[in-house]
Amino acid sequence: MTKIKKSDDEWRKELGDDLTFQVTRKAATERAFSHPGFPEEDGVFRCVCCGAQLFDKEGKFESHCGWPSFSTPAKDAPIGEKSDTSFGMTRTEVVCTECDAHLGHVFPDGPGPGGLRYCINGVCLTFEPAEK
Ligand SMILES: [Zn+2]
Repeated sequence: MTKIKKSDDEWRKELGDDLTFQVTRKAATERAFSHPGFPEEDGVFRCVCCGAQLFDKEGKFESHCGWPSFSTPAKDAPIGEKSDTSFGMTRTEVVCTECDAHLGHVFPDGPGPGGLRYCINGVCLTFEPAEK
C-alpha cells in the first residue's frame, strides 16, 4: 500500500536529478558501475524519495555486479516485491512501499543464509552514517 503519492512533476522537482527520477519513478536502471558507491562506515541506507530506512550496513556485501548489493533489507523495512517481465525476463522488482519508488531487483543467488541478492540502484539510496 503506497502511502505517499506525488505527480511526476513534483517528483522531478523534488529529486532534482533526472537519472534519479527516471530510475525511481520510471523503473530505469543506472549503468553498471556508474554509481560512486557508499562510505564503508556503519550506517543506514534510506529511500531517496521518502527517507524510509530500507537497508543497513550489515546487509550490504560486495557482489561486483556493478550495483550496490544487499543480502537482506533492514528490519521492518518497507520493501515490496513485484513481478517484472520486461525485457523478456521474469525478475522480481523491488520497490519502496512507502512511496512506490523502484529500487532494483532481487535475485536468488546471494551469499547469505537467505540466499538473496538485492541488486539496488545507487541513486535510489541515501547513506546516513551511524551516530558515533
Ligand atoms: Zn520511498
